[in-house]
Amino acid sequence: MSSEEQVKPTNFIRQIIEEDLQQGKNEGKVATRFPPEPNGFLHIGHAKSICLNFGVARDYHGTCNLRFDDTNPHKENIKYVEAIKTDVHWLGFDWDDRLYYASDYFEKLYGYGVELINKGKAYVCDLNAEEIRQYRGTLTEAGKDSPYRSRSVEENLDLFARMRGGEFADGAKVLRAKIDMASPNINLRDPTIYRIRHGVVHHQTGEEWCIYPMYDFTHCLSDAIEGITHSLCTLEFEDHRPLYDWFLDELQTPSHPQQIEFSRLVLEYTVTSKRKLTELVDGGYVEGWDDPRMPTIAGMRRRGYRSEAIRDFCDRIGVTKSDNFIEMALLENCVRDDLNTHAPRRMAVLHPLKVVITNYPEEQNEQLTAPNHPQDEAMGSRQLTFSREVYIDQTDFMEVAPNKKFKRLVSGGEVRLRNAYVIRCDEVIKNDQGEIIELRCSYDPDTLGANPEGRKVKGVIHWVSAANAVSTEVRLYDRLFSHPNPDKAGESKFYKDYLNPDSLRTLTQCYLEASLADAKPGEQFQFEREGYFCLDSEHLSEGKPVFNRTITLRDTWAKIEQKGAN
Ligand code: ATP
Ligand code: MG
Repeated sequence: MSSEEQVKPTNFIRQIIEEDLQQGKNEGKVATRFPPEPNGFLHIGHAKSICLNFGVARDYHGTCNLRFDDTNPHKENIKYVEAIKTDVHWLGFDWDDRLYYASDYFEKLYGYGVELINKGKAYVCDLNAEEIRQYRGTLTEAGKDSPYRSRSVEENLDLFARMRGGEFADGAKVLRAKIDMASPNINLRDPTIYRIRHGVVHHQTGEEWCIYPMYDFTHCLSDAIEGITHSLCTLEFEDHRPLYDWFLDELQTPSHPQQIEFSRLVLEYTVTSKRKLTELVDGGYVEGWDDPRMPTIAGMRRRGYRSEAIRDFCDRIGVTKSDNFIEMALLENCVRDDLNTHAPRRMAVLHPLKVVITNYPEEQNEQLTAPNHPQDEAMGSRQLTFSREVYIDQTDFMEVAPNKKFKRLVSGGEVRLRNAYVIRCDEVIKNDQGEIIELRCSYDPDTLGANPEGRKVKGVIHWVSAANAVSTEVRLYDRLFSHPNPDKAGESKFYKDYLNPDSLRTLTQCYLEASLADAKPGEQFQFEREGYFCLDSEHLSEGKPVFNRTITLRDTWAKIEQKGAN
């Protein structure tokens, strides 16, 4: 379609792909893959890679495979495989029937190992891990040849077969590519391509194998086997590209994909290393991989983010080659923008204060209509019950106004209950400790509606009817770390020292308007004047539903950061 061709590519990778298509490379096909290792849940950084790989395939009428890079069985787990599939789907992408595992290719990869040996380009080495490291040299110093480097093809074939057969202990032998121990690129100094791992049960292949191929060997060959055209990966693999190409040049593979690197997403106030995320889970610092404070897809989903917001964020950060330290405020604004349009409005009182409306008859109640969204009529309306007893928020009442800006309720003053009547506070009731426990108010029956004539009441506050309020627990989530860069915050400190002590505050007694009794797990709402919330998908607390705060209405961190900068 011509209109499509006229759209300028939005990043350098799309530009490369368009040029390749114009030149008729790869028979005009675009094939990408998303290759997670199933050793943890997917996080926001993976979302960037998913949106890129699946997005490119969608926009150029190509395909994107989901391939599990499962060559490290001792760290991997089938539960991560399942979680990853769920999360990719939830993000809005689909691999159709192209679900693969690197382990699908173990037999082929073994064959490629044999092919390298036959070419004199690989050898079995008996040095242990420490010796291999010593022989490797440094950035400024060439490495030394292994004493096993000159083994004959026959001997290597025999030893490799016996490695596979289980004859040798872990670490006793490895298979190495024979490239160049003096290469300025350390990755080319005879890298290990197979190691021995006994006693692990692989989630796909069981106990069939006791030798496992290394990532660099596996990845390029899996790409070639699947006919990937553009193998998109993060910048730390740039120095591995010569090795990626070396394997594909030396071996008879069905194709030679092109590796292109882009920068990783690094997000403020977050860690995304799976090792660290695993530590947070295993150490009980969070409730699990899907804790709403985790930067995982599952955590963000449970927190109440919609996939639209995450995809929008990935669009906005773009794809480049340069470092990519992204402000948390950007992600949070995407979430706010999305929920602002999509979340119906509701009323919820988080710190309840009882109000008795003394001139409203005890047995009476009435149904009031309230719009679900102030700008979007199509979102409809819902009914609110008004009755003699209501709750308002403690912070919406003060006996005496502290300053002129305080437009809420004061002793003797008036305020409008949103979507309902104007009330006046006639009496304040306190307990023995002098704490305010109840207000006695009167309502003006002529004030129903948005702005009846003759009434000038400045403040509007939210409320819920005590008659049918839903009693809940509300969890106020905030950023997990209090430092923008917990990984590099201070030499002497550790990222866990920067955990935000206020990342979760639990309010055990909150009241929601009755319509929220029908909320579905994960469903998002704006609690007016409070923020965006969703019904937690996991919890009931003592029989009560739990609502999670997804995000505040405004960026409350901006002020703090401003202060810190002064
Ligand atoms: P970790 O280093 O935390 O273990 P990883 O990169 O090894 O992460 P994988 O499961 O191997 O995790 O990643 C799958 C894909 O997602 C890879 O192509 C990787 O480059 C990409 N990816 C991982 N983290 C990020 C990130 N922060 N930004 C962009 N892409 C990422
Ligand atoms: Mg990896």
